[in-house]
Amino acid sequence: MKTNNPNPIPNRRKFLKGFSFALGSTALGLPLLSLNSCQAGGSSGAGNEEQVSQEKQNKGNSNKMGIALVGLGNYSTEQLAPALQETENCYLAGIVTGTPSKAEEWKNKYNIPEKNIYNYENFDQIADNPDIDIVYVVLPNSMHAEYTIRAAKAKKHVICEKPMATSVADAQRMIEACNQNNVKLAIGYRLHYEPFNKRVMELGQQQVFGKVQSVEAANSQDMTKDSPDVWRLDKELSGGGPLMDVGIYCVQGACYTLGKAPVAVTAQFGEITNPEYFNNGVEQSISWKMEFDNGVAAECTSSYAREANLLAGKAENGWWRVSPAYAYEGKEGETSEGEMDYENVYEQVHQMDGQAQSFRNNQESIVPGEMGLRDMKILEAIYESARNNGKRVEIS
Ligand code: NAD
Repeated sequence: MKTNNPNPIPNRRKFLKGFSFALGSTALGLPLLSLNSCQAGGSSGAGNEEQVSQEKQNKGNSNKMGIALVGLGNYSTEQLAPALQETENCYLAGIVTGTPSKAEEWKNKYNIPEKNIYNYENFDQIADNPDIDIVYVVLPNSMHAEYTIRAAKAKKHVICEKPMATSVADAQRMIEACNQNNVKLAIGYRLHYEPFNKRVMELGQQQVFGKVQSVEAANSQDMTKDSPDVWRLDKELSGGGPLMDVGIYCVQGACYTLGKAPVAVTAQFGEITNPEYFNNGVEQSISWKMEFDNGVAAECTSSYAREANLLAGKAENGWWRVSPAYAYEGKEGETSEGEMDYENVYEQVHQMDGQAQSFRNNQESIVPGEMGLRDMKILEAIYESARNNGKRVEIS
């Protein structure tokens, strides 16, 4: 199965363990506009922290929030579960899986009590489990809405993987469910927690090199080397092709470079040269332009039939370029003033610790559901434009 990581480096030990960050500000100490108008209406937490189980106390986790991972596929297995062995504000308390053999394997590997293991049918009983404070939805995209809403009804905070949903309507229902049940919703946008992308936010938003003039972003992963029989190539489950899966990082990159959302988009689908892979309503490649109200444009591309990984910007008095920009590891960057000298961090650790801390403090995450909704509106507009031969689509 493909991952979002074209440059895997297995040894995590080399990462900065003590890298710290403040919520709502950068590692570099500057406040950032990660999103315009994205404050959630939910006000109080799930409120079950008083009842801490004996297992939790025995494991020294009594001061940490318990996370249950829903969907034990590649991302949960290779990234999130190992990261949860290093988090300080949260820990792997439970799992939700449809595969009994995986339940057994994870139970033994991570010492998860039987009572914290659920399947998709009995998942709603998680409401009665005080060990679980946060449900992390790591399922195929079209399942995000159902499991986020069920988790919210169980009065659990939710972290939902990107893309938040497969439609704007679903994204809105997810936010409403969380607000109605007074739980917080955050999206798994890990790049807001790592220094290269945070530096790009500063360079753009703080106009370090003067006004930004243009943004370029590309994120592509070659899916044509593996089996075509995967959910990412099935529109019912994925909601779309590379745009939904990896192109979303370009949308994010352009928005956090400028600290705002685009006002309009134009887009074109690329030619299908591998019909045995792209025959199920999923595009092989797509290119699009995002127009911002200050006249700046972001030119973006995403494909499932080649490799690319870039976020670059040009300003009045300088430029920057991060490549790879979105991989878990191995990021490199330079600006017109020289190399970007940052360590690669274990970003999922920082992401989940940051999100757990915000939930505990009854604050909105820096990557709230509203940011996921904003991005869904942009993705839908990009698809609408591409379906209509590049028609300019405004985003309200
Ligand atoms: P995966 O295919 O490896 O895992 C999917 C999991 O869902 C599996 O455990 C599978 O058994 C389960 N599942 C339940 N019902 C299913 C169904 N009907 N069809 C297929 N699988 C079903 O996928 P993944 O790479 O782990 O991705 C899961 C989610 O995480 C996606 O939304 C993806 O976009 C996101 N993701 C995010 C990042 C990131 O960097 N933030 C990286 C990878 C994946």
